[in-house]
Amino acid sequence: MTTAQILSRARQEKRTVLTEIEAKQILGEAGINCTSTVLATTKAEAVVLSEEIGYPVVLKISSVDITHKSDSGGVKVNLANKEAVEQAYDAIMTSCRAYAPEAEIEGVAVQGMAKVGTEIIMGMIKDASFGPVVMFGLGGVLVEVLKDVSFRIVPIDKADAEDMTSEIQGKKLLAGYRGQDPADVPCLQDMLVKLSDFVNETPGIEEIDMNPVFAYKDGAVVVDARIILSA
Ligand code: ADP
Ligand code: MG
Repeated sequence: MTTAQILSRARQEKRTVLTEIEAKQILGEAGINCTSTVLATTKAEAVVLSEEIGYPVVLKISSVDITHKSDSGGVKVNLANKEAVEQAYDAIMTSCRAYAPEAEIEGVAVQGMAKVGTEIIMGMIKDASFGPVVMFGLGGVLVEVLKDVSFRIVPIDKADAEDMTSEIQGKKLLAGYRGQDPADVPCLQDMLVKLSDFVNETPGIEEIDMNPVFAYKDGAVVVDARIILSA
């Protein structure tokens, strides 16, 4: 489905929350690299799709009513074979039904297991006075505890994106720290500009959250994405 189709379907269904699958499809169309992610509505289909994608895979609950998927036991990573996928499917369904009995569950999102990189977060929020702003930060504890993030008002250009990546406290980590690979910072800057362009061109988007993005020596990939539409 195209971005326009996804947005109009959500509007018709009177929903403001997009699924991870929809969010990654839209970001992908905007030129932002995401792990390829597909919907399985049965256990058997999850196995077939896992085999197509190639092991190891990740299974995640797909429900517009469950936006924090790990909290509900809805994420199983590093599944290496058919048996692991079948077990993960059952475990996800059992724990998500217990966690949110009223949730409408459409199935599971099957995706390739991305290799670990430098954890980044990117997103967009609407500021009451400035309107849409894009956000960049390091992922994990650094963003949760230290709030080490930078913001710019949409639209941004390449120079703004360069400022954003150099403003954060933990920027040394992007350069590679204690033998860790450096992050492909130009690629991250390019993603920020594409995110800003998308927001600028697409009315009705309230919030975007890409958490985490894994950055590598060459390239970067969005591993989880959330999009909220304006009411
Ligand atoms: P949540 O809704 O809880 O934020 P995520 O999709 O972010 O769920 O998954 C939780 C964690 O699982 C991520 O922070 C990441 O470390 C890991 N993870 C999720 N998807 C993948 C993937 N495709 N490849 C590798 N790791 C993943
Ligand atoms: Mg996440």
